[in-house]
Amino acid sequence: MNPKSNDRPRRFATQAVHAGQAPDPTTGATIPPIYLTSTYTQAAPGEHKGYDYARAGSPTRDNLEACLAALEGGAACAAFASGLAGETAILSSLRPGDNVVAYSDLYGGTYRLMERIFRPWGLDARYTNDTAPQALARLMDRNTKLVWIETPTNPLLRVLDIKAIAEVAHAGGAKLVVDSTFGTPVLQKPIALGADYVVHSTTKYLGGHSDVIGGAVIVRDAALHEPLKFYQLAAGGVPGPFDVYLVHRGIKTLHVRMERHVHNARYLADRLAGHKALERVIYPGLADHPDYQLANRQMCGAGGIVTIVVKGGREKAFEFCKRLRVFALAESLGGVESLCNHPAAMTHASIPKEVREARGVTDGLLRLSVGIEDADDLLEDVWQALG
Ligand code: PLP
Repeated sequence: MNPKSNDRPRRFATQAVHAGQAPDPTTGATIPPIYLTSTYTQAAPGEHKGYDYARAGSPTRDNLEACLAALEGGAACAAFASGLAGETAILSSLRPGDNVVAYSDLYGGTYRLMERIFRPWGLDARYTNDTAPQALARLMDRNTKLVWIETPTNPLLRVLDIKAIAEVAHAGGAKLVVDSTFGTPVLQKPIALGADYVVHSTTKYLGGHSDVIGGAVIVRDAALHEPLKFYQLAAGGVPGPFDVYLVHRGIKTLHVRMERHVHNARYLADRLAGHKALERVIYPGLADHPDYQLANRQMCGAGGIVTIVVKGGREKAFEFCKRLRVFALAESLGGVESLCNHPAAMTHASIPKEVREARGVTDGLLRLSVGIEDADDLLEDVWQALG
């Protein structure tokens, strides 16, 4: 059997390397070429080989979409130019008057999208700070079309019970969207737990090298794929072929990188817990994390992000950022290199201060995206930055 054919289910690591990577049919190239074309020559008007214009589809994008659908166990996937473009495609399937019920610890850009683009358009977004599935249920009514969660959340790393929330969403006639950017298909499987849509900012762990912006939406049912395909065609927001190639290339090592991200994050979390300059170390793999049991059950590895809260608020947090030598002070996460982010001033600055603080994103809070460097170099860097 051809090892690159996709006609038999395989285990994760094999899928990561082979799904959507059949050799090029014309040349046999083991790695499929990047199709650098915006258009496709037709034999007669309307007579083509499945592709007519690259916004509508391209073999390069199809390959990535096939790979992600396989890794998430979904029916299909639609790739986008960014995570937010993917989120926009999902929200665009709603109608004015519909509402979305969300757990409040969302990426700032997702909140901004709901509040500044879709609320004026007629969408109501309702948030709860309570992780209990029933808290989401209480906000739902007959116009609720989506329940929207991130897990683990950004930046507080709460873990939400996907299975229980899917039951609540479905009982109320809504679909469940899980932004699994922090979880990755290596650490959790939202569709197997009942999610209808899985969102990824492929900019993060899937691309894995901080050199591309991309997004993807994987769906449980083929019927949910049709509106996304139509959105790609009708509204655009699709990724270019080089970007698609970079994400697909990154995915081939995702499982190997995640092992190291998780190892290094755990190493730091264990050794920073109790440090006298810190108010808190937040990591779902620490026994004092409020969702420790759930994370153990739902995930296979507590992720590559460690959030710390320094004593002394913004001033001390900024001093910490300035002293870092190995960690770069930068937005984003999930690359091989370690990054430090101050959410209140950076990724979550678009959330009003009072809303942000009510959600626990305080001025002393720092999000560490722990890379795959030597764990002791990372630990020493944090130690010296804490003074
Ligand atoms: N979802 C999460 C959890 C994120 O952290 C981000 C970006 O940081 C996004 C979505 C948006 O993705 P992108 O920046 O690729 O548009």
